[in-house]
Amino acid sequence: MKIHEYQGKEILRKFGVTVPRGIPCMSVDEAVKAAEELGGPVWVVKAQIHAGGRGKGGGVKVAKSIEQVREYANQIMGMQLVTHQTGPEGQKVRRLLIEEGADIKKELYVSMVTDRVTQKVVLMASSEGGMDIEEVAHSNPEKIHSIAIDPSVGLTDAEADDIATKIGIPAESLAEARQNLKGLYQAYWETDSSLAEINPLILTGNGKVIALDAKFNFDANALFRQPEIMAYRDLDEEDPAEVEASKFDLAYISLDGNIGCLVNGAGLAMATMDTIKLFGGEPANFLDVGGGATAEKVTEAFKIMLKNPGLKAILVNIFGGIMRCDVIAEGVITASKAVSLKVPLVVRMKGTNEDLGKKMLADSGLPIIAADTMEDAAKAVVAAAAGNA
Ligand code: GDP
Ligand code: MN
Repeated sequence: MKIHEYQGKEILRKFGVTVPRGIPCMSVDEAVKAAEELGGPVWVVKAQIHAGGRGKGGGVKVAKSIEQVREYANQIMGMQLVTHQTGPEGQKVRRLLIEEGADIKKELYVSMVTDRVTQKVVLMASSEGGMDIEEVAHSNPEKIHSIAIDPSVGLTDAEADDIATKIGIPAESLAEARQNLKGLYQAYWETDSSLAEINPLILTGNGKVIALDAKFNFDANALFRQPEIMAYRDLDEEDPAEVEASKFDLAYISLDGNIGCLVNGAGLAMATMDTIKLFGGEPANFLDVGGGATAEKVTEAFKIMLKNPGLKAILVNIFGGIMRCDVIAEGVITASKAVSLKVPLVVRMKGTNEDLGKKMLADSGLPIIAADTMEDAAKAVVAAAAGNA
């Protein structure tokens, strides 16, 4: 799960990381009031969306007067902000953060991630922070420093000081950098983050160290024990299909292709997507209906897939173990009728009550393409999506 920058800064502040004073706003008038409350002479108007790269996309503006705050807030609020992380359609800006301006002397980069190789939290840092960190990682990887943190000890003072020195923090600012780095680690650890990034972490003209941006991702499987984090969830920022699916406890991820997949079991779902791609198709989604899905759940899954206007064909691939093939057949028939199915549907079923399920589909009068093997099913659905059913 992702959250907004202003929420990330709330967390950082709680863990002793220095962040600028700022006020989140839901309207232009609120933004102006916030700027007056903060006081001048410089403010930053920042679009709040769950994607980075806002600066380059025109979603971060420095204002030198209250009139300018109003002007920029007007420009940014409601805009369809396009960044390299939003996709070409962009993301609508519904919230702003108004902050006091900072005197930036140097932009640095620090982040915490869980590293699967060392199985530890890794602190990454660079002197080359700001808006081009991806470019630095690509062409000057030696400028990115990292250290794997021992979970039984946490980030030590020595480690923090070593990294801070490597990224160019001067001796007189080391104590402040140490507090910020240790706070970031503690925030990451205690909130079950999977990513906590400050880019830029700045050094100001008078040697202060401040987090100017905050980006967090959280482990969705730990949210049950993080009610405060869960309260930060903003459904406006999430894929509507995924939000709908989560209500029915369906594991659903939207993808770019045009072939809908309804599968039981994550492993079979992955194998199904691989097979579709092997034969030249592109999956429109990952969908695992789970082992104990009811006909109702299957119907909902069908409805969610069919809301995608780019959908060209559907492949249902079921292994009937705990989940019986006749239950899936019932769901497929109910859903197809409920939504008056207009795209070709390929169904492959194996296992418990396979014959009964196949008979129900055949008797339903629906134009279903039956397939027996994974290969047959994938070839059939790729052909159907290309209009060669
Ligand atoms: P991102 O582009 O989505 O990562 O948004 P950031 O919050 O990182 O802001 C982008 C850039 O705007 C930063 O790298 C800074 O250069 C600039 N910026 C952000 N806040 C301030 C500020 O308070 N004062 C000034 N002068 N620039 C700022
Ligand atoms: Mn940033």
